Amino acid sequence: MAQFVSGIVPPAAVEGARYFHVIGSLVFISDRIEIETDDDHHFLGMFDEEACWGVDVPRGIDPSDGAALDLRSLYTRTSELEWLIAGRAVQVVEWARTSQFCGRCGTKTGQLPGERATKCPACGLMAFPRIAPAMITLVTRGEPGPDQEVLLARGVQFGGPMYSCLAGFVEPGETLEGTVVREVFEEVGLTVANVQYRGSQPWPFPHSLMIGFRAEYVSGEIVCDPTEIVDAGWYRRDNLPMIPPGISIARKLIDAWLAEG
Ligand SMILES: [Zn+2]
Repeated sequence: MAQFVSGIVPPAAVEGARYFHVIGSLVFISDRIEIETDDDHHFLGMFDEEACWGVDVPRGIDPSDGAALDLRSLYTRTSELEWLIAGRAVQVVEWARTSQFCGRCGTKTGQLPGERATKCPACGLMAFPRIAPAMITLVTRGEPGPDQEVLLARGVQFGGPMYSCLAGFVEPGETLEGTVVREVFEEVGLTVANVQYRGSQPWPFPHSLMIGFRAEYVSGEIVCDPTEIVDAGWYRRDNLPMIPPGISIARKLIDAWLAEG
C-alpha cells in the first residue's frame, strides 16, 4: 500500500524524486525538474521511497507544453494519494509566493529553517501557511432504517441541479460543533444536535480543510437563506436527487449513510 508521509526537511539520502511543478495554479508531475531554478522548490514529504517536491514555476513559463492540469481535472487522472500531494504542492508554493513580505512591517521575510514558516528579520513576526477550516455535515431525521431521511441542499454557487451536505467556514473562537449548529440554523433554519465527527479532507480550493460531521435533526421547518441556498429538502435513500461526485467528502458522507441502509 503506497504511503505518503509529509515533511519539511528532506532525508539525507533518497532513492528517487517526484516533482510537482506548480504553473500558476496548474500542476505538472515529472521525475525531474523541468526548469532552471535556484531554490524555488519546497520539500513536501516522502511518497514511499520518493522525495516529493513542489516546484514554483516562474510566471510566463510552461515547461509542460500545455499538459499541466488544474487540481479538479487531475483528480480523475491520478491516485487519491498523489492528488493530495499535488494539493499540498499548490498550497505550499502559493503560500511561499504570497508571504514574501512581513504582514506587519513590510520587511522582506525569510523561511525559517526546519519549519513551514517565515520570520520577519525586523520585527520577529512569524507567519504560517493559511488553512481555512470548514465544517460539512450530513443531517439525518428519524430512526436508522429505510425511512430515515437526510437533509440535502442546492447551494447558490452550484453549477447544476446538484444537492449536497451543508457546509460553512469556522469563525474565530468557535468550536467545530458550534459551527455545525450555527451554519445549519443560518442556512436552512433547523436546529440540530448530537454532532459526530466523521473524517476530514484537505480541500485545496484554495486552502480549506473540510471537517466532516453527522448531526441529528431536532426541530424546525426548512427556511432557506436565499443568499446561500436555492433549495433544500429531506430525502430517503430511494429518492435521492443528483449528489456530488466522488472527489468530495460530501459524497463520502452520503455514501456512508447509504451503506447503512
Ligand atoms: Zn515585520
